Amino acid sequence: MSERRWVTVLGATGSIGQSTLDVISRHPDSYRVFALAANQSVEAMQALCIKHQPRYAVMTCADAAQALRSALPEALGTEVLQGDSALAMIASHADVDVVMAAIVGAAGLPSALAAAEAGKRVLLANKEALVMAGHLFMAAVERSGAVLLPIDSEHNAIFQCLPANDRAQPEMAGVSKVLLTASGGPFRCWSSEDIALATPEQACAHPNWSMGRKISVDSASLMNKGLEFIEACWLFDLRPEQVEVVVHPQSIVHSMVQYRDGSVLAQLGNPDMRTPIAHGLAWPQRIDAGVGPLDLVAAGKLDFEAPDEARFPCLRLAREAVEQGGTSMALVNAANEIAVASFLDSAIGFAQIPAIIEQVVERVSSVEPDDLAVVKKADSDAREAALEAVARLRTSH
Ligand code: NAD
Ligand code: MG
Repeated sequence: MSERRWVTVLGATGSIGQSTLDVISRHPDSYRVFALAANQSVEAMQALCIKHQPRYAVMTCADAAQALRSALPEALGTEVLQGDSALAMIASHADVDVVMAAIVGAAGLPSALAAAEAGKRVLLANKEALVMAGHLFMAAVERSGAVLLPIDSEHNAIFQCLPANDRAQPEMAGVSKVLLTASGGPFRCWSSEDIALATPEQACAHPNWSMGRKISVDSASLMNKGLEFIEACWLFDLRPEQVEVVVHPQSIVHSMVQYRDGSVLAQLGNPDMRTPIAHGLAWPQRIDAGVGPLDLVAAGKLDFEAPDEARFPCLRLAREAVEQGGTSMALVNAANEIAVASFLDSAIGFAQIPAIIEQVVERVSSVEPDDLAVVKKADSDAREAALEAVARLRTSH
């Protein structure tokens, strides 16, 4: 690579953030950290700032920013800022080349959108941004000429299996279907009765991937695959019937593209997010990601099965939302965030996650997502309705 690229990492202390910084550290001649952002983990940010010496560090709340400011040596030269406008600034700054959007949940939308509007190379891990505001996000990318590279392993695999010239027009390229693989999560073989009694610890114990707690619960409920279904439709301009979910417990085939002539192209690799991250950083080149070679003989078997929407209704709810269109995807996303947080707080049971989403979708109507204000209103209405549903459940027990 000829010049060094300046990278902003949003969600730097998280699972994806740390993997991103690991890959960047392997290539000091190609990448430098411009800015890091996190919610409130001051100690973790302090260590990251000392190691990567960013120009800016942004914390969500003022107290955390103040604590970080006092913890960093002045000689480091890192300026500590706080809040949403600072997040948007480090995502769109003229000196920034690459933005890793790895904040979890709806909180990641404004900064990811700011990077897209500013025409950056956007490495999108925050799938919730596309689920909530796919139309606005893709329009911003189109307008600004941003280079949008999917980091979600499945979408990164699909990107790699689509033809380079017609990626935005899969039908022209002879694509008949995208086969989105799902590990099935920790409850793949559990009965509905056992799933209903699952604890947060059991839900967060993913068999193949080590991830943040919210996406781990989403993987256990298959809502992660539901959100990814929606994400695939926006990213690759696909209709819902062109996306098929296939359960593949080993997580080695990260997804596939099926062509009109019967060919199916797949991307395989060890389940390690540093592979899609390195792909996004260097594309169209290839760099070392620190990931060991795939040993197919050791893996031995690659299994595939159909998803069970009766035991995992979240997948159906996400598919219905994309079919319905409008703000219904934002409603599902917001209701899911509240339901997952309530489950992690042990306020509701695992089976109540889809029940809450279903109630929210019934009570809050979907409208056309013309601008960000409409999407934000749908998000907050759905959160309110989901909190009411949680409260109703708690009083009825
Ligand atoms: P995580 O919980 O490990 O990290 C989340 C990061 O976001 C942390 O740095 C946290 O400080 C920051 N954050 C949280 N709330 C914030 C707020 N309100 N404002 C600013 N920053 C905030 O999550 P993760 O597993 O790294 O996932 C991050 C995103 O990447 C999610 O959207 C997830 O769906 C997606 N993703 C993750 C993986 C994975 O393997 N972990 C794979 C594919 C996609
Ligand atoms: Mg994924």
